[in-house]
Amino acid sequence: MEFEELWTKDAQTLNLNRAFISKLKAEQSDFISVLTGHSKFNGIEINRRYSSAERESTRSYIKEQLMGLNLQPIERAYEENIPMLNKRQNPAKGVNLYTIIPATSESNEYVLLGAHFDTVKESPGASDNASGCALVYGVAKAMMKQKVRRKNLMIVFLDKEEIGHAGAYAFSKWLKEESFNIHSVHTADQVGWDKDGDRNIELEVPSKSLKEAYRKHTNTFDIKAYVTRETGSDHKEFREAGFNAIGITEEYRRGDTSPFHHDPEDKFETIDFEYLGFVTYFVFKVIEGLINQAP
Ligand SMILES: [Zn+2]
Repeated sequence: MEFEELWTKDAQTLNLNRAFISKLKAEQSDFISVLTGHSKFNGIEINRRYSSAERESTRSYIKEQLMGLNLQPIERAYEENIPMLNKRQNPAKGVNLYTIIPATSESNEYVLLGAHFDTVKESPGASDNASGCALVYGVAKAMMKQKVRRKNLMIVFLDKEEIGHAGAYAFSKWLKEESFNIHSVHTADQVGWDKDGDRNIELEVPSKSLKEAYRKHTNTFDIKAYVTRETGSDHKEFREAGFNAIGITEEYRRGDTSPFHHDPEDKFETIDFEYLGFVTYFVFKVIEGLINQAP
């Protein structure tokens, strides 16, 4: 209860009231429910996000959610030879889905936030990574409530992380080719587990500036943001393409992480929605700070 007060009060400074926060938590629950086949979308039960048809249904749902925020979703198909994959697996094909929340004043600079939406064959992928997708949706929604944005926020749902980080590889390559001015890249993967209830998070391979941007707010909420060298997710590809990239996750390396990783039991019921809601708010607060920091 005490923490709830702290969080609610802080959110008010960023134009988000109590009703917004509780509605967001409910929407994140619905979001993960649909992505894991716990509930249906247009009569379809998406039990996993592996085949091309399953991934297409997933994108349809996410597109509808983005349009509900008055955002314009854009699909970007790719066909690339991925270094991590073998000859038989290449070229990899997939479709990333992105949208832009524009700055409220002239800016060519972007902060990028992403999460992969695919799963392995065997799993409904609630933790991995419907939770990260729900976080990205939540940050987008909170950012739309801001009256001032000094940089653009690019939101991306990445395809095929589970197969050689293919979507992230292709998307980062495209950003580079198009010379996008990217301030930083943040990718979320598995953010729905907090068995010990300490609300701590893990920062994967952050630069000094990004580590500081996240740690700036940890005292406010009496949490810890542990730094690790974990490279097993999308942020690796962005960093290798030359971007200032960080991965955000639950306490993966410290072991307070979903025990159902890549398992048929990685289900809706295992998600800690209070934790997910809080981490969503925390990441939003960091990103809002980066977007509105003085040039
Ligand atoms: Zn993942």
